[in-house]
Amino acid sequence: MSKPNMSRLHNAIDLLGKLVAFDTTSKNSNLGLIHFVRDYLAEYGIESILIHDETGQKANLLATIGPKGVPGIALSGHTDVVPALETTWESPAFELTERDGKLYGRGAADMKGFSACALAMIPELVKRDLEIPFHLCLSYDEEVGCIGVGSMVDHLAAMDTPPRLAVIGEPTNMKVINGQKGKYSMRVGVTGTAGHSSFAPNHVNAIEYASRAINLIAEKAREFEENGPFDEDFTVPHSTMLTTTISGGTATNVTPEYCEFTFEIRHLPEHDAEAVIAGLQATIMDTLDAEMKAKADDTGFSFEKIFSYPGMGDCTDAEAFSYVSNIIPEISGKVSYGSEGGVFEKQGNIPSIICGPGSIRQAHKPNEFIEISQIEECLEFLDALTNQAIAA
Ligand SMILES: [Zn+2]
Repeated sequence: MSKPNMSRLHNAIDLLGKLVAFDTTSKNSNLGLIHFVRDYLAEYGIESILIHDETGQKANLLATIGPKGVPGIALSGHTDVVPALETTWESPAFELTERDGKLYGRGAADMKGFSACALAMIPELVKRDLEIPFHLCLSYDEEVGCIGVGSMVDHLAAMDTPPRLAVIGEPTNMKVINGQKGKYSMRVGVTGTAGHSSFAPNHVNAIEYASRAINLIAEKAREFEENGPFDEDFTVPHSTMLTTTISGGTATNVTPEYCEFTFEIRHLPEHDAEAVIAGLQATIMDTLDAEMKAKADDTGFSFEKIFSYPGMGDCTDAEAFSYVSNIIPEISGKVSYGSEGGVFEKQGNIPSIICGPGSIRQAHKPNEFIEISQIEECLEFLDALTNQAIAA
């Protein structure tokens, strides 16, 4: 390997160590990391835009390298990580540790590896005469429902020349992923009336009404399984819907007054989850809720959206996709886990693909790692991607 590549790799590993050392578990502030990146970019004369959340404790960072006024390519990474509370970590989770060609640490794969690679390219990028810009997009609160990235995508979409493509660097072993399911999750409260269970017919049983609603959800899920819509590029080729948590009741001899449950739909990008939820809600209100209210006032259902993010559709026929397909011609399919790609695509109208170093299998687990060879591959990809943009 040639010398400049070695220094690039060295840089990336060094930067990854610094990024991992910030405990950016989603419940924490990410400002330490964001300020570190801002200062690093400033050393190369690159200005960062920080877009804070309403608490001021978290921020997205948006930085443009290259010319303004030309549509470019967004490189997207989330800064937050899932908790590292497992007791089976063999080295400290927030201290990057190398063993056998692998770098261990929370976020090494998901997904500080990609961000470190993008940052490691900066010293070279500022020397290149770029024809199109690259927008570094670092977000907060991805792991808790792609919450942070929206305000940054709004900012990008409002530019005179929004990006023409986004590369979401979630770990795919540097394979190109051209679709991702969306998710919509809901909390449902069911209020009945309490009383001694021996007088049950006089009461409105919250758990029993909840269970009837849960049945409707399961029926709907079976409908998707049988009738689609289908997309065979997904491992589970249809939308899925299920109840995920439930709690209710107070004692074995009391008619339950309250029951709460959560459910989610993970939907194909083109499947309208909002319409599914609205339809389901209307059915429940027209039947179960009406039946409850006929027995007693102040009973019934309440619905609360927990969060949603859109699915990411296939953009491989977008012109700008050639920037990626020139380097990685093969398309490796679609994934059911979430990413910010859907927000870029649906909210920002920016065609998106997922491609990043490391494996999703190592994510969200103790002893998360990324192989050094994956960092090398990502650096080569970013080098080739940005080289295509050099003015002739
Ligand atoms: Zn991730």
